[in-house]
Amino acid sequence: MKALVYEGPGQKSWKDVPDPQIHDPRDAIVKIDTTTICGTDLHILKGDVPAVTPGRILGHEGVGTVTETGSGVNAFKTGDKVILSCVSADGSCSFCKDGLYSHCTGEEGQSGIGWIFGHLIDGTQAEYVRVPYADTSMYRLPENVSQEHGVLLSDIFPTGFEMGVQYGQVQPGDVVAVIGAGPVGLAVIATSGLYGAAKIIAVDLDANRVEQARKFGATHGVNSGDENWREQIMDLTDGWGVDVAVEAVGIPATFEMCTSIVRPGGNVANVGVHGTPVSLELDRLWIENINISMGLVNTNTLSMLLKLIAEGKLPAEEFISHRYSLADILTAYDTFSRAAETNALKVILQA
Ligand SMILES: [Zn+2]
Repeated sequence: MKALVYEGPGQKSWKDVPDPQIHDPRDAIVKIDTTTICGTDLHILKGDVPAVTPGRILGHEGVGTVTETGSGVNAFKTGDKVILSCVSADGSCSFCKDGLYSHCTGEEGQSGIGWIFGHLIDGTQAEYVRVPYADTSMYRLPENVSQEHGVLLSDIFPTGFEMGVQYGQVQPGDVVAVIGAGPVGLAVIATSGLYGAAKIIAVDLDANRVEQARKFGATHGVNSGDENWREQIMDLTDGWGVDVAVEAVGIPATFEMCTSIVRPGGNVANVGVHGTPVSLELDRLWIENINISMGLVNTNTLSMLLKLIAEGKLPAEEFISHRYSLADILTAYDTFSRAAETNALKVILQA
């Protein structure tokens, strides 16, 4: 089969590799019908994620068709259309039993990290993928949900909702500011309304992204390139700051923006993937009673979000900016990596 292979920092290729095989009775083999590219894949290609070794097939998002199941797979059969979660869960370890699938201790060399596709084992940017713990890591794609919308549930919708909205403890009436209006920041914006946010402020350096964010539910936009960006945000609050500030970029400057706009007793939810340490002004912040949260998505809300997408309650279509055939994945990477010029959000790849 063909697959997108990481060849070391800055290097990737679309090439022939052996077809995946069943290793464990709980495995399934899935033919990928739709996949996409994540900002995390770009981090890996920069060499920011050393756990990914050369030769690894990238990708952790996918919708596909089951072509083979191990003898221990009971919930799925050949021909089933499935959504693959970016987090693999054996369903039986102590973390899985607590719903903390992100720290599944299964047997796939996870070492307590549930994100293994395109990280610790071969991923979904391929014609076929081996799915460990298929019964507890795959979700049936309903007939009334398209593959393109289904693939948004592998990662971005659960990540935005769980790490931004739930960990940020958004409450009815809250003012929520989301720093970074890329795909995951937009997923936070799109799901903040579920918990009753009154104002949702999109903050980005890119004027186009700030404007586009309104289609996802942002009520206000602030360009962080403006000298008075902070004043603009404070003017949208009661003067004390936002209730919830969500970091969806992954650099120290945007994290510090969050701690500079949150009200006393408010929440800072870090969603971005950072490549360097971030300093924390504890000497200033301790007296503000601020909660700071962070984490790897669990995808334990995937089924709930799927129901909302099936009923048209979330702006799934708005996330899709480009479509390519899977064989054109190198072009798709080029488009996605130049998002400021191409206005790329989610780049859909179809087999
Ligand atoms: Zn587990």
